[in-house]
Amino acid sequence: MVGNAPGPTVLISALIHGNELCGAVALDQLLSSSFTPDRGRLILAFANVAAFSRFDSAHPYLSRFVDEDMNRLWSPDILDGPKKSAELTRARALRPLVEAADYLLDLHSTSLPAPAMVLSGAHGKGRNFARKMGYPTYVVADKGHRAGVRLRDFGEFNNPESAKCAMLVECGQHFDNDSPAVAIQTIMAFLLACGMVDEAPEDIPLLPCLGQQQFIEISHAVTIRSDRFAFSGEFQCFEIIPKAGTQIAQDGSHKVLTPYDDCVLVMPARQPVRGHTAVRLGRFVAE
Ligand SMILES: [Zn+2]
Repeated sequence: MVGNAPGPTVLISALIHGNELCGAVALDQLLSSSFTPDRGRLILAFANVAAFSRFDSAHPYLSRFVDEDMNRLWSPDILDGPKKSAELTRARALRPLVEAADYLLDLHSTSLPAPAMVLSGAHGKGRNFARKMGYPTYVVADKGHRAGVRLRDFGEFNNPESAKCAMLVECGQHFDNDSPAVAIQTIMAFLLACGMVDEAPEDIPLLPCLGQQQFIEISHAVTIRSDRFAFSGEFQCFEIIPKAGTQIAQDGSHKVLTPYDDCVLVMPARQPVRGHTAVRLGRFVAE
């Protein structure tokens, strides 16, 4: 979509994970609405269509990807390297659009119930942009995963000196009926913050914001070391563990302990897998 005046190039992507449907529903709603940008160029990407086309509601977790996680491939050595997979083919095709974008919004959802949250990246520019969006309520500042680079951290988006800015938004649980509404709300908050539009279109009603934003700074991403990983309890997203040194998981012979008082657990994994992130640890910070 092209606006009537010059402005930023904005990319909104959905379905980087093929079973995270809310972003695709929201993009469909945007395409069906009266929306046009006031300025700039808006690119909408349905990313992992091959995985999505395998979606089966009887096995809703199996269509996250075809060969590998598409959100761990976004570094030049992998994109330019010899490896082949369905996701790499698609990522290589999308790469010029990602590189052309001044702003990127990547829409996701979570496997376990969790409040909607912006993952604003490692740098202050991300937090500032999330503050400008004002939605959703939780802002999580993190560096990503050991298993590979996310789309939101690709190239200039992860350069603190660059004006380019990317946000990953988790819009709630995969199959929560509210997630598509959160996704469309997120899109409008994002486009307003980019300066692409001056107001939301009439046929996309803006929901009232639910209270003040809360900022969480991630200090650790706990990467699973063994095939024998188990959490010590059923932890909820944003659960606070009051005492430092509390065991939250056993990973083979290694005990996973909280590193400080009032440690916040962010997105504990539904199914722990060796080499993947089990949970992020952080603190609420004043912003
Ligand atoms: Zn995802």
